[in-house]
Amino acid sequence: MGIIDGKAISQAVKDEVKAEVAGIAARGGRVPCLCVIIVGENPASQVYVRNKVKAAAYTGMESRQIELPESVSEDELLAQIRSLNEDPAVDGILVQLPLPKHIDEEKVLVAIAPEKDVDGFHPSNVAGLWIGKDCIVPCTPAGVMRLLDSTGVDLTGKTAVVVGRSNIVGKPVAKLLLDRNATVVIAHSRTADLGAVCRQADVLVAAVGRAGLITGEMVKPGAIVIDVGINRMPDGRLCGDVDFASCADVASWITPVPGGVGPMTIAMLMKNTLRCYLQNFKSASRK
Ligand code: NAD
Repeated sequence: MGIIDGKAISQAVKDEVKAEVAGIAARGGRVPCLCVIIVGENPASQVYVRNKVKAAAYTGMESRQIELPESVSEDELLAQIRSLNEDPAVDGILVQLPLPKHIDEEKVLVAIAPEKDVDGFHPSNVAGLWIGKDCIVPCTPAGVMRLLDSTGVDLTGKTAVVVGRSNIVGKPVAKLLLDRNATVVIAHSRTADLGAVCRQADVLVAAVGRAGLITGEMVKPGAIVIDVGINRMPDGRLCGDVDFASCADVASWITPVPGGVGPMTIAMLMKNTLRCYLQNFKSASRK
């Protein structure tokens, strides 16, 4: 059994971006700029935003952090997004979720210009993914694919089971696996006999949010197991959706938590920001 080292792979992705940004800077170009908006003082969101800004700095990109009070109105937030949409010095815009209850998340995500939507949550990017256009792919699913690629296993004809059907993880991961010619099953909270479904999987991706839901007897011998789950245990430890000890005995490859999918999300955000920059640059030079 091999452990897929998300920490090392995410570092390699960040270093790829860093090298490209260094090249841009060496040619005297403006470096990419990521703008992160955070509303309120959710401690978990603050940690995520800090890590995103830190990663941007590591890659040599610029970043802006806009902190808005919990009481900010939806209109004020939308106006802020519109002004960033029009700012040619900003390449990527990310609004950290969740938002306070009085703000309609959907309205906010739709307000971000699709070409600056580094999270890939805008409906036009979501549609692009599903109809097979080359578009911005959400960071965590893109990170999952990069981890799978690191195994060198060809996914064509493999059976992939994705447990979880959320818009930000389960559904896009399923589509990306389909694009690699896997036969994809999406399991969820109403799936009858989850164990039997999972046991068919050559590739098993768990994105549920339930610590230890996937146990060794649910894994087909030799399967690749990717654990997207992040669950905070009462003692403060982080735990995945996969019971690592029992599944590691059966799997050919497995991701740990922490150190698996988690660090990939931010690394792929850097990739997406660079991609938006390059695209914006191209369309600006066509004008
Ligand atoms: P979500 O709550 O939106 O969706 C969870 C999904 O799991 C649902 O589709 C539901 O049908 C399914 N589900 C719930 N109980 C189930 C059960 N008993 N059996 C089978 N399926 C069940 O969650 P999400 O946003 O997709 O996140 C899933 C997990 O991934 C969470 O732990 C979250 O913290 C983690 N996550 C990690 C990253 C990362 O960067 N590593 C990013 C996003 C989410």
